[in-house]
Amino acid sequence: MGRKLPKILITAGPTREYLDPTRFMSNPSSGKMGLYLAEEAKRRGCDSLLILGPSQLTTEGIKTIRIVSARDLFENVKKYFKQYDVLIMAAAVSDYRPIKYLKTKMKKEKKSKWIKLVLNPDILSWAGRNKKGHLLVGFAAETNDVIRNAQKKLKKKNLDMIVANQVGMDHVGFNATDIQYSIIETEGEALPMSQTSKRGLSKIIIEKVIKKYQLWK
Ligand code: C5P
Repeated sequence: MGRKLPKILITAGPTREYLDPTRFMSNPSSGKMGLYLAEEAKRRGCDSLLILGPSQLTTEGIKTIRIVSARDLFENVKKYFKQYDVLIMAAAVSDYRPIKYLKTKMKKEKKSKWIKLVLNPDILSWAGRNKKGHLLVGFAAETNDVIRNAQKKLKKKNLDMIVANQVGMDHVGFNATDIQYSIIETEGEALPMSQTSKRGLSKIIIEKVIKKYQLWK
């Protein structure tokens, strides 16, 4: 008989923070990294659930919940966390949202307007505080000091693994096919940055997650 496989909860894509029915704040995340992770988890035989923000991608054959805002995402992570062994947060969560949602379209005025923002909940930090035998994987999209900043986040958010990745260059990052990354685990040194496809990286991450889970069990 094969060894037990982890149940994997994956978040992906951007979130949208609406200001009024016609305007929102967001980011250019495509959701590809998370979708590939979910496809690879399925291919390896793991029960998985993808929670996906507004994205052009279709997710046929993948168990998916679609969400819009960071608060929707948080509600769903809280709802499903207990039922899963692993949480991989590949979503690019908006750090802020407008303090107020206007039910009718905001009118254009000649003078400039300030929009007050409030911080969204940090979902991964919540998971780090509430984990009970869970394996937590985060992503750290950084423009500079990539590995050092990711190491800090690994500690601060109480994670087991973090995928440091370079953003701010055209050929890698948010919407690109390729990613420049280093995987850092709580035990062990960070490996130097290397470049691969997001598809390739999804295989590396799921392999590591399954191995780590089986070592723990
Ligand atoms: O702190 P930073 O946003 O760089 O951390 C990135 C990691 O934290 C990602 O895995 C992201 O999905 C997660 N995150 C979160 N909730 C937020 C912001 C980021 O779970 N509000």
